[in-house]
Amino acid sequence: MPLFEQLSDREKDVYSHDYGGMVHREPKKVVQFRRDTDLKQLIEEAVNDQLSVTLRGAGRGCAGQSLSKGGTLIERYQRDARLSGFDGTQATAAASSNLCRLELALNEHGLSLPVVPVYLNLSLGGVLSAGGLGFHSITQGQTVEHVRSFTLMTPKGERLLVSPDSHETLFRHVLCGQGQLGVIEEATMGLVPYKPYTHFAHYTFDDLNAFLKSLSWISSWRGDATLQFVGSIGLEEPHVAMYGEDVAESSDPVCAPWLQQGVPAHTYVEKNHRLKHHYEIAFNTNEVRQKKGVLYSAYCFPYDEFCEHAHLLLSLLKGDKEASACVTRIPFYAIRKQDNAPFFPFSPRQKASPSMLFGLGINWAVPLKNEAAWRAVKKVLDASLLHCVSLGGKPYLGCWHDFNESHLNAFYPRASQSLEELKKQWDPKGIIAEGQLNKKRDDDALG
Ligand SMILES: Cc1cc2nc3c(=O)[nH]c(=O)nc-3n(C[C@H](O)[C@H](O)[C@H](O)COP(=O)(O)OP(=O)(O)OC[C@H]3O[C@@H](n4cnc5c(N)ncnc54)[C@H](O)[C@@H]3O)c2cc1C
Repeated sequence: MPLFEQLSDREKDVYSHDYGGMVHREPKKVVQFRRDTDLKQLIEEAVNDQLSVTLRGAGRGCAGQSLSKGGTLIERYQRDARLSGFDGTQATAAASSNLCRLELALNEHGLSLPVVPVYLNLSLGGVLSAGGLGFHSITQGQTVEHVRSFTLMTPKGERLLVSPDSHETLFRHVLCGQGQLGVIEEATMGLVPYKPYTHFAHYTFDDLNAFLKSLSWISSWRGDATLQFVGSIGLEEPHVAMYGEDVAESSDPVCAPWLQQGVPAHTYVEKNHRLKHHYEIAFNTNEVRQKKGVLYSAYCFPYDEFCEHAHLLLSLLKGDKEASACVTRIPFYAIRKQDNAPFFPFSPRQKASPSMLFGLGINWAVPLKNEAAWRAVKKVLDASLLHCVSLGGKPYLGCWHDFNESHLNAFYPRASQSLEELKKQWDPKGIIAEGQLNKKRDDDALG
């Protein structure tokens, strides 16, 4: 197991940062990905060395979720996809698989992952530890809602098959649980037919109230077409709603429920939009990331509270030039609960949430080592976190949050306790390093 100090300068840079580039932490040891890694042995070595363990997928977080301070960092990411079981309606894939490669491999069999994040150079395991929201969330909810089972290497060194019927509590706390209960090795995912063509309609609005009103139909829509949706709130530019409907052939009829609005839209058809858009996102952020830290924050609400939160964010940002100069986008998804999906306590959904939620985020690009800019951004982040608590919303854990104990109690009243109990049972030696669910973040690490 190589020591961090033995790595090349480039590797040191990679493993001491995540995608956001704002947090810097150096592990003591790094276990780079290999297919034949013996996880059980690694865990034993970490125990013997008295080092904590942190898991890392593609390292594409922004809050230091995949960084270790003085412990062992275990990487579970390959730039490839490994399918080990496949029966036409579900597939078993290595959690280390790259999502883009996995989607391409499934497409070759006429199948598709129901919903994935907008950016695909992520590991399956990392996304299952966050939840997974994307354009298809309007009909397909979260990626975790399509997990049938997974294998977990617990910190005790036991390999378990975890599903809603076997270790049900673990199932609900590992998914969306930020790597706190062991290593997801493989996951069996439910799939949908691959529909390569998407009919798009873009609507633009100058007035926020009119824009939000135009979205209200989404809350009660229960149709079964495969829809895509992403919206964005404009600071200086118009507010935009992008609707899409997937079809197998470009000439197939569409149901397009948004047409009922009766206002003009820009429409077009695109093939393999999911894969194209993913490359655009990667290109833009790579450019930005030379000089800026990339940060995203997101909270989920029912429709009325979402509208209230949208108004708050816009007024906060319009009143603060320094903070608004750091905003790249204010995107939001609509997220429908999947029938029969269990309740994941660390997901952005409350147990009693209505079926459709709206997840509203801000993508930030903050000049590195610029304290004034960071202070301005932090003020907005703190205010939106507080507003989320007061509205009864919930955070998306794949993002940046500065939780204290009272936030955790508000968002996860019983789940924090269940996590503690599960950790006592499956990680009695406390090998897995604490994360944002059980530790106040390390502010002095911000670059
Ligand atoms: C440009 C960009 C766009 C994004 N867009 C979206 C989006 O549209 N929707 C969305 O939902 N998210 C989005 N994300 C966030 C992303 O989905 C999460 O940050 C996700 O967790 C990253 O996956 P990763 O493989 O990089 O995981 P990492 O950041 O490496 O790890 C994330 C967490 O998962 C744990 N973990 C990793 N692998 C395993 C494993 N095998 N077993 C157990 N725990 C593990 C880690 O310990 C850590 O706590 C975006 C990120 C970027 C960079």
